Amino acid sequence: MFPNWRHYRKEVVAELKGLTKEERKVRHAEIVNGDQYQEMNELRQLSRLFERLPEYKDTEAEQLYEGIRAENEEFRGKEKHRNRKELEDIYYDNIQTSLDEGLPVEFEGDEQYVIKFLQWLFQAVNPGLLHSLLISKIVFDQRVNIAIGRDNYLVPYTEYAVLLKQYPKLAQYRFRGESFVSWNKMPFNYVPKRTPIRVYSHEGLGNDVSYLQSIPEDKRQDTFERGTLMHELAHQFWWLYVDQYKREKLTDVLSNTEKPIQPITDYAATYRDDKLLYAEETFCELVRLYSTAPAILMEWAAQSEGLQQMVLTICNFIEDGEGGEVLGFRYGEDIAD
Ligand SMILES: [Zn+2]
Repeated sequence: MFPNWRHYRKEVVAELKGLTKEERKVRHAEIVNGDQYQEMNELRQLSRLFERLPEYKDTEAEQLYEGIRAENEEFRGKEKHRNRKELEDIYYDNIQTSLDEGLPVEFEGDEQYVIKFLQWLFQAVNPGLLHSLLISKIVFDQRVNIAIGRDNYLVPYTEYAVLLKQYPKLAQYRFRGESFVSWNKMPFNYVPKRTPIRVYSHEGLGNDVSYLQSIPEDKRQDTFERGTLMHELAHQFWWLYVDQYKREKLTDVLSNTEKPIQPITDYAATYRDDKLLYAEETFCELVRLYSTAPAILMEWAAQSEGLQQMVLTICNFIEDGEGGEVLGFRYGEDIAD
């Protein structure tokens, strides 16, 4: 998703190599004035800027990643003799063992803030569900998270606001929330563990989000932030409880070319090129709308009969499970503010 300057430069050099001196001049000018070059150049500027701000580097996520990587490496070393199927069985056993431990999900952040958020959260999800998602803690981080290339920087909002004036493009690199579940999946990892979810500052966000236009302006930021947490919970849910068959069904409906379906949100649209990831992000945005903007979800679903069927099935599943086993996301209209 993030452009890579070095990779891009290599491509340009390779392209210019095959041309005559005159052709090269013309093509070079075209490239330098093109959008991609400009974008790459801005990104390079931003990378340099943040390299000078090492105190903001997100080292906690790096350590988490390193821990997962090292533990997995050690496991693979020890279990070399096992085949893929056996490793998978161990993986699912490990998940079950962690879930059986029933450790409480912790909450981290400014106390007043967390309490206010939790009053809403415990209506929006069944606490039992929260314990079944292999989450270690939910962190409400009041800083802005900026992702530049492979690095993340956690910047106080006031500082971010100053930088934004200088580099308006910075807004595009702002992360609103993060689940670490992708590091916990096979085949990368055979030793799944409980990982945190982090929600970052939503200061100044929400006003121009299209699906929030029907709610009062002073509520948009909070609603957006609640939705971000639901989106991240949905990633955990997708990984643990949405099986291959259901994933493929959603992928099929979304990629039906006879009657193309509009992306559920602008955010989901950015994943359109990758079928499976697009299905996952659409599911997460669906859960977001289900809790925080249900009328918009129903509007979106009405695009086609197939989609409507699918959405109703998903809603029933995330609320009640199959065979009436309660999983526990609650429909937005049933949540008190
Ligand atoms: Zn996502």
